Amino acid sequence: MLPIVHHPAYCADIPEGHRFPMLKFKRLAEILIEKGLVTKNGYHTPGEATPSWLSLAHEMAYVDQVNAARVPKTIEREIGLPMTESVGRRARFATAGTVMAGRLALEHGLAANTAGGSHHARFEHGAGFCVFNDAAVAIRVMISDGLIETAMVIDLDVHQGDGTADIFENDTQVYTVSVHNEKNYPVRKKPGSLDIGLPDGMHDQAYLEVIRDMLPKAFNSFMPDIVFYNAGVDTHANDKLGRLNMTSSGIAERDRRVIDACLRRNIPIAGIIGGGYSTDIDELAERHAILHQAMAEFISS
Ligand SMILES: [Zn+2]
Repeated sequence: MLPIVHHPAYCADIPEGHRFPMLKFKRLAEILIEKGLVTKNGYHTPGEATPSWLSLAHEMAYVDQVNAARVPKTIEREIGLPMTESVGRRARFATAGTVMAGRLALEHGLAANTAGGSHHARFEHGAGFCVFNDAAVAIRVMISDGLIETAMVIDLDVHQGDGTADIFENDTQVYTVSVHNEKNYPVRKKPGSLDIGLPDGMHDQAYLEVIRDMLPKAFNSFMPDIVFYNAGVDTHANDKLGRLNMTSSGIAERDRRVIDACLRRNIPIAGIIGGGYSTDIDELAERHAILHQAMAEFISS
């Protein structure tokens, strides 16, 4: 079975009606059990990311502020979440979950978290609903542990992966790819190794052509020891923040292409869920489950 990482702490306490759909993490974990992708007690459960891990990708002063629930108001506003103990704890667990998914991917070829993809968190501090950059922390922890020497981030969330590009700027061990909607947040993009900005309203077919061309381009430029794949579903036509026009089957095909491109090159792939915004939590969690479903198909085939 596909190794899947989850922890109940992924769902932090935030005020009811907050625009961030926090309950999706809980619902996603239930849906994956309902689909038979994991048994009730089958989840791999992480601990909390330590300050020494977090400071491999973030300013120590900011890590301390989050852990003490004393983040300055201006930064809290930029993050867009109330920076309470519960939200800080959630970020530590979700980050450790991505580290765990990375280690499991090395062992099994592929693995996935039920959170992660906090790609707007940059070296200095968080932003855009992202507290710690889980993929960046995971890569730095795995390099520091001697498990890998190089990594690639393939970020297909509809928003540009500016935080990831910031952290790995001038880092020759890590190659960062972002395919995103050009007009969307963040206003100021931070160029990574390979950036592709898409126009509004793109449908499945045109999008999938972009992905088909991007994958060999990325791997011809860089052969990593592992790929972290941000499978954001805010590319969906019904997403509240996305401006693209994809269907769920288009997203499933996208995920399969990325997974296939990694596995045929014998590169382990760790999936993280990325963004997805809807007030309908069931519908949203279903969309996030597309990633785990797609990965599971490769395990059984
Ligand atoms: Zn996003």
